Amino acid sequence: MNRLKDYLKEQFQLDPKIIDFCFQSEKKIQAFFSTIDQTTEYNQLKILKAMQYHSLSESHFSATTGYGYNDLGRDTLEDIYAHVFGAESGLVRPQLMSGTHALTVALFGNLRPGDEVLSPVGKPYDTLEGVIGIRPMPGSLKEYGITYRQVDLLQDGTFDYDQIKSSIHEKTKLVTIQRSKGYDWRPTLSVQQIGELITFIKNIKPDVICMVDNCYGEFVETIEPSEVGADLVVGSLIKNPGGGLAPTGGYIVGKEKYVEQAAIRLSAPGLGKEVGATLGINQLLFQGLFLAPQVVNGSVKGAIFAAHLFERLGFKVMPSAQDSRHDIIQAIQLREPENVISFCQGIQKGAPVDSFVTPIPADMPGYGYPVIMAAGAFVQGSSIELSADAPITPPYNVFLQGGLSWHHAKIGVMMALQSMYHKGQIQIP
Ligand SMILES: *Cc1c(COP(=O)(O)O)cnc(C)c1O
Repeated sequence: MNRLKDYLKEQFQLDPKIIDFCFQSEKKIQAFFSTIDQTTEYNQLKILKAMQYHSLSESHFSATTGYGYNDLGRDTLEDIYAHVFGAESGLVRPQLMSGTHALTVALFGNLRPGDEVLSPVGKPYDTLEGVIGIRPMPGSLKEYGITYRQVDLLQDGTFDYDQIKSSIHEKTKLVTIQRSKGYDWRPTLSVQQIGELITFIKNIKPDVICMVDNCYGEFVETIEPSEVGADLVVGSLIKNPGGGLAPTGGYIVGKEKYVEQAAIRLSAPGLGKEVGATLGINQLLFQGLFLAPQVVNGSVKGAIFAAHLFERLGFKVMPSAQDSRHDIIQAIQLREPENVISFCQGIQKGAPVDSFVTPIPADMPGYGYPVIMAAGAFVQGSSIELSADAPITPPYNVFLQGGLSWHHAKIGVMMALQSMYHKGQIQIP
C-alpha cells in the first residue's frame, strides 16, 4: 500500500492529504461495490450464454465489403444483442453513427405524418430536441407533420400519471422514455419504474409503441427495458455496450416489426437488414460486448467513489454513494464555474490520451451556454471512457461518467480532487 501511495505522490503529484482522504472513502464504499459486482457477474454470464447459444465462431469475425450481403457476423451479432436484451430482434450497425442517429432512425422509421410522440418523463436529451423539432431544425419530425407532447416528472422525480393519461389520444403513436438523466438534475429511472410506466401506458392504449432511450443504462442492472415491455430499446456502441472497444455504432433492439421499420429507414424500403457491410469491425463489436459488463462495473465504481468524496466535501451529488444505480452517470453540483473548470482539467490530466491538453469552456452548436468537456479517449468522443462534461451555467453541475477500469476511474477522480485542492477550492477535513 505504501508503494502505491508513494507512487501516487511522486508520479502523479497527489498531496498525501488527498491520497488518504480518497483511500478512506474507498474503504467505506466496499459494501456498495459488492452490489455492482453481483450485477456484473450476472451480466457477464448472460452475454457468455448468448454467445454460446448462437455458436459464435471465428468465421463471424471476417470482413464484408460492398453491399454486405450474407454478413454472417453481423447477423449473429444482432441475434446475440436480441438475446442479451431479451428482445425479438436487433439492428446493430456501424452505419448507426451515434446514439442520436439510432434514436432518429427508430423514430422516423416508425412514425408517419399525423402521428404524435409523447415524452412522459420530461424534456429529452439535448440533441433530440432538434430531431423532434422542439428546437426548430431542418428535417425534424415536426417538418414531416409529426407532433410532440411532453409531460414533466413531478417534483420528486416520479411520474405524473394523471397528466400522462390525459395526454394519450388517438394520434399518440409512440412514447419515448429516457432512462438516464442526460444533463438534467433528476434521478435516473430504474428498469422496474420504466416497466410500471409502460404497463400504465399500454393499459390506456395497447398499440402505442414504447421506446426507451437506454443510453448509459446498459448492464447497470440485471434486466433491460426490453424485458419489462419496451417495444424498442436504443443506445450507442461508444457508450456501455461497446465495452470501450467498439470504434463506432449504435443499436436498436425490440419487437421484430418495429426493428424492421427502423432497418428500412436506415437502408431503404425493400432492403431492410439485408445490406450493410461491416468492413472488419465485427470482432471488436463482439469482444466489446463481452467486456461491457466489466467496463460498466469500473464506471459505476468510479461514480460511487466520486459521489462519496464530494458528499464528504459538502457538495450535492446525484445519485448519492449509497443509492441504487441505474446508469453510469454521476452528477455533482460544484456551485462555482471555477470549480467545474478545475474538476474537468483534473480529469483530463488523468487520461491515457491527450493528458497534456487543458480543456476550457467553449460555445457549442445547440447549447445556450459555454460547455467544458474533459476526455482523453482512445475512441473519439467515447463516453464509456472516463470523461466529464459541464454546461457553464448555475448551479454548475458537472457530469462524470465512464472509466475502462475501476482503477483508471479512481486515479481520474483523485486528479480532479487534486486540481481543485491545488487552487484552494476544497479543504480536506
Ligand atoms: C449520449 C446520449 C444520447 C445520444 O448520444 P450521442 O451518441 O452522443 O448522439 C441520447 N440520450 C442520452 C440519454 C444520452 O446520454
